[in-house]
Amino acid sequence: MAGEIKTITNPIVNCYLIKTDSGFIMVDAGVSFYRGALKKALKQAGCRPGGLKLVVITHGDYDHTGNCAWLQKNYSAKIAVHKSEVGAVEGGDMFASRKNKQNTGLRISQAVFKPLFFRKCKPDILVGDGDDLSQYGLDGRVVYIPGHTTGSIGVLTGEGDFFCGDLLTNSGRPEKNRLVDNEAEMDASIEKLKTLGEKTVYPGHGKPFRMEEFIKNSP
Ligand SMILES: [Zn+2]
Repeated sequence: MAGEIKTITNPIVNCYLIKTDSGFIMVDAGVSFYRGALKKALKQAGCRPGGLKLVVITHGDYDHTGNCAWLQKNYSAKIAVHKSEVGAVEGGDMFASRKNKQNTGLRISQAVFKPLFFRKCKPDILVGDGDDLSQYGLDGRVVYIPGHTTGSIGVLTGEGDFFCGDLLTNSGRPEKNRLVDNEAEMDASIEKLKTLGEKTVYPGHGKPFRMEEFIKNSP
């Protein structure tokens, strides 16, 4: 059963801590230099080493994976990613999971930010569309939503909460993320999202929002 959801945020990115009947699950791992907020949230929630059963990484960009290795080491957490993101998570190449290798903005951003943000991690589990997360204590499943990267995934809970990674953002208003690798995949993922019956969307960037708000605002 999906329980209380705690947003762990900083000026760069969100990650989410979900209390379950048998422990905790996280979606994304944030950046290492804001680890203080993560530590505090885990402590306040009463999550001890061994209590964090799984960390689902929505995609391998640095801002979402920075504390993976630390969570593995200190909480014995298992890190789950889509197979297409393994190269990015292990080696820090954001183009490893992207089709468009000519994105100059991303190339510059990688050159600048990789030394600051990237923390190497070896994922424990590969997940894909429809994978049931109940064995980790969560009434929920993985949803494949490519477009921002090839291996982007979200998590849908039985209560209609959807953790969308960087498919949608809410910096000002709920909208499609402007950093698109493949437009057709991204649009198809958004259409897929509209059929899932989710109520609240928890984005990687910006505040959680109601799905109906996004639908109302989208063209
Ligand atoms: Zn991001």
